Amino acid sequence: MSIEEKSFQTEVSELLDIMIHSLYSNKEIFLRELISNASDAIDKAKYEGLTNPAIYDGGTDWAIRVSFDKDAKTLTVSDNGIGLNREEAVSLLGTIANSGTKEFIKKLSEAGKTDFNNLIGQFGVGFYSSFMVAESVTVLSLKRGENTAVKWKSNGKSTFTVEDADKTGAGTDVTLKLRDGETDILNEWALKRIITTYSDYIEHPIKMNVSVPKKDADGKVTDEYEQKEEVTNSMKALWLKDKAEVTKDELEQFYKHISHDFMPASKVVQFKAEGISEFHALLFIPSHAPFDMFHKDMKYGPTLYVKRVQIMEHCEELLPQYLRFVTGVVESSDLPLNISREILQNNKQIPVMQKNIVRKVLDALNDLKRDDPGGYKKFYGEFGKCLKEGLYFDTERKETIAKLLLLESTATAPGEYTTLEEYVSRMKNEQTDIYFITGSSRKELESSPYLETLKEKDYEALFLTDEFDDIVFSSLYKFEEKPLKSVLKGDLNFAGEVEEEKKESYKTLLNVVKEALGDKVESVRLTKRLKNSPVCLVGGEGAPDANMERLLKAMGQPVPVHKRTLELNPDHPLVVTLKNIADSGEGKDKISLYADIIYSMAILLEGGRVEDTGNFVNKVADIMAESPSL
Ligand code: ADP
Repeated sequence: MSIEEKSFQTEVSELLDIMIHSLYSNKEIFLRELISNASDAIDKAKYEGLTNPAIYDGGTDWAIRVSFDKDAKTLTVSDNGIGLNREEAVSLLGTIANSGTKEFIKKLSEAGKTDFNNLIGQFGVGFYSSFMVAESVTVLSLKRGENTAVKWKSNGKSTFTVEDADKTGAGTDVTLKLRDGETDILNEWALKRIITTYSDYIEHPIKMNVSVPKKDADGKVTDEYEQKEEVTNSMKALWLKDKAEVTKDELEQFYKHISHDFMPASKVVQFKAEGISEFHALLFIPSHAPFDMFHKDMKYGPTLYVKRVQIMEHCEELLPQYLRFVTGVVESSDLPLNISREILQNNKQIPVMQKNIVRKVLDALNDLKRDDPGGYKKFYGEFGKCLKEGLYFDTERKETIAKLLLLESTATAPGEYTTLEEYVSRMKNEQTDIYFITGSSRKELESSPYLETLKEKDYEALFLTDEFDDIVFSSLYKFEEKPLKSVLKGDLNFAGEVEEEKKESYKTLLNVVKEALGDKVESVRLTKRLKNSPVCLVGGEGAPDANMERLLKAMGQPVPVHKRTLELNPDHPLVVTLKNIADSGEGKDKISLYADIIYSMAILLEGGRVEDTGNFVNKVADIMAESPSL
């Protein structure tokens, strides 16, 4: 096939434009990215070679080679990994598959210098980072098991070319023609330094020709030098080493390699599991959330190795979804080497491993919370919502996860947090329940009428403002044997019962209001929940709150019909006036008009929206106009 010229996907063009004009101070990371791709390509070849002898006959010495030509101003990273064929070169080196890309590129083009540096690392621009230093890049590749090689070439300006080519030996050579001003790295010392800084732990040898002093016939060092191939990296698999043997710096570099994150992780979880299932784990809790954390197609889970062979990059079976922010490596010595996704799902060891990993991760979070409250607060800001997901889905570990929550309450200043344990320690002697209120903002909740009686008793209430907080906390049910209770729902037992005589004397009013509102409410009753407000609506214990209803509607989900109860405060002057009108037996029309208005008031008080605002305003205006005192 002849030479073809193709356009990059728009996002790639934009990204390349940013790369070419970037003032990124740490351009040398492009080498880490190319070596990382080369290492991945070898992992793939090793893995596929397990089942396909056409890919690997057992005779290959897996290696990555770095070479350069000072005169030609070129740098080449070669590997003998899986290789690319023509179609793959076009699709994989012309597009970006990641769904967060558009959002990322927009952020990148708008970012200031510091943010830019962080973002570039966070996203891991990979192959395309070559264009920070190269005026053109050539990829020559022969896919294992195929006969025709491909040559891909681009100067990073909106198009690239592909053509059939010759290449001896399967694998890929990526050659960068460096721009003037970027050639300082073309010497063995600079390259060695970059490799040992960023890629030391790569588990395949990174080989380079270096000059070594020539020895004479007696083995004595002479003044002359000769070129010799040397392995520049130590190839230490950090996850197999003892915790004490691994330095902080090694962990940091390794984390960058596997995560493409520029920021250090907020916590490292390293352990060796023994017993029914033996494995090593080196896991990281990042310090900030990835772009796609709430995309449903986000791939997560540690890289799984079995006996030093990388089996899969994202082993989701090893982590519950709510811990999807955890990255790292797990290596097992007892899983079979030919394990596939299907086998994995039925393997009895996997749930045991998962259980172990989850326990260690939650313990590590607990340690972080205890030892570094500032760091934990930051972590929580990024991943708190995931923990709440865990609270809902991980029924076995509810209490453990609940202890990790940071919550605002009537006892904290805005932006400050408390925990459930602290809440319990502050509970009044006679207080039986843990109270919470859900809504869209702390500000709105602070003045909520539903807290009136609580405030009078000096009971603390948690402010919960995430949309799904209501179901999450209702599902928690109890913490340290203390029931959790939404003040928006059911009975508040401490408020006490309304006296029988009062109930009797308001009977007529309650009946006419219920008749006027019909199916809109379950029932109408008196309450002791309120002090200064005239009305409120309360749900049944199992009903979703207004926040949850809004969320379900926004997601296009059917909202279950749960009629609520309208509660009237018998001590409020408005309710007393309504009672008098109802008792007089006159003005039935008026009562039904008032009933509608107080119902709307109750909806507004819980932060909801009145369905027909125009109608509501007109009704209020009419009443005000009629009022003799105006
Ligand atoms: P990433 O490595 O993050 O997926 P890159 O842009 O660096 O993104 O690379 C895109 C894809 O190109 C890789 O996922 C891989 O499939 C392919 N690729 C890159 N370098 C090589 C290589 N040396 N050998 C084989 N495939 C490669």
